[in-house]
Amino acid sequence: MENKTVWKKYSTKQNNALEDFSEKYIDFISECKTERECTDYLVSILEDNGFMELSRLLNGNTKLKAGDKVYSVNKNKGILAFHIGKEDLEKGMNILGAHIDSPRLDVKQNPLYEDSGLAYLDTHYYGGIKKYQWVTIPLAIHGVVVKKDLTTTIIELGEEPNDPVFFISDLLIHLSQEQLEKKAAKVIEGEALDIIIGSKPLTETKTSKSKEKEESETEKESVKKAILKILKENYDMEEEDFLSAELEIVPAGRARECGLDRSMIMGYGHDDRCCAYPSLRALTDVKTPEKTACCILVDKEEIGSVGATGMQSLFFENTVAEVLALCGKNGDLAIRRCLANSNMLSSDVSSAFDPTYASSFDKKNVAYLGKGMVLCKFTGARGKSGSNDANAEYLGKLRSIFDEDDVSIQLAELGKVDLGGGGTIAYILAKYGMNVIDCGVAVLNMHAPFEVISKADIYETYRGYLTFLNKM
Ligand code: MN
Ligand code: MN
Repeated sequence: MENKTVWKKYSTKQNNALEDFSEKYIDFISECKTERECTDYLVSILEDNGFMELSRLLNGNTKLKAGDKVYSVNKNKGILAFHIGKEDLEKGMNILGAHIDSPRLDVKQNPLYEDSGLAYLDTHYYGGIKKYQWVTIPLAIHGVVVKKDLTTTIIELGEEPNDPVFFISDLLIHLSQEQLEKKAAKVIEGEALDIIIGSKPLTETKTSKSKEKEESETEKESVKKAILKILKENYDMEEEDFLSAELEIVPAGRARECGLDRSMIMGYGHDDRCCAYPSLRALTDVKTPEKTACCILVDKEEIGSVGATGMQSLFFENTVAEVLALCGKNGDLAIRRCLANSNMLSSDVSSAFDPTYASSFDKKNVAYLGKGMVLCKFTGARGKSGSNDANAEYLGKLRSIFDEDDVSIQLAELGKVDLGGGGTIAYILAKYGMNVIDCGVAVLNMHAPFEVISKADIYETYRGYLTFLNKM
């Protein structure tokens, strides 16, 4: 069975829609490099499309009815949004669920130090990365600093053309004979991923009498002192404020069209924002559906879906309970019925076949760039371990609705058996007894600082998500 390229099937009108969708997506991933930034950006799209914040409805006597649209934000790092359908909510929802966190380097809580005239921020990497890919590229700092009085300063530095950027050094090739003998996993070690943020010492005019003593004082860590002065001036921030900061180091710069034919998009964080964005857009574009449509956007997928903002948190279940109550359905049984009767596309990326590394893939069972939306019946590793293995009956039904709307799909696995594997949020939702399958966009260079997808695949995936919300 060979899947056809999707490029040839589009009409001029569809081609224009594809380009328009890609342009908006490029803006989105260029402006949103953290889960917090994604949340803010996507909430404003929801608001523009008539979605109301759930907490504003809980105090009044509002009852939800078909056509109503609500959303809830989880600690500034995730969103749940619902478009209430015509059918009783107890009969289940159609859910699109993606994650908005991406692999990166997190700044430690005691990060700032000086060594030999260079000021550094110490980091701890987040998610699965090939460490050697992160050295010598321009980096940006994104995040928040929360002070003791709870004032929050937002930091975004390294994105504007006039902003400074930051970097991690690598040993010059001339002296790398020993380094190059090392295994790739050890060439750059975790503790070597500290970013260089300055090199200029504090310069002060001396007035005091004990000049000599003072000079030796200022000499000591004077580059660090100069950095602290800048932080104070620009962000009213003390060194201790790093203790309650969340600063993420990400590749600097915008996402770009890629290829002479501009068929691809290169950017940071396609995993999993290239599924999160079409999921949310499908939810805002669907006309009042039969079954309630739901979009889940969660944090912490890359480190096991843990924590209050990860998929394993009860935030989802609790919010569904609130929505059910607003629809006049109270009690545990209503929630259990609603969840067990639901269908879900776990919207996450899959690997794209890479001819340069052909031996890592099973050519018959891998996704190809430009051949449409990817469905992964199972993920996992070493004999499907840890995988949500979707039911054949569910797959059969999905094939029929995608066929009806001429949505191109490819069934794929990540790579060859026994070479490794991966997971998504699919298995967590499957615990409720609902139908779940992984479904999303194929990615080249997954988890690298800059990943690549096909414009056709993200557009086709958006079309597929829309069909799912309308017809499942
Ligand atoms: Mn993912
Ligand atoms: Mn990932």
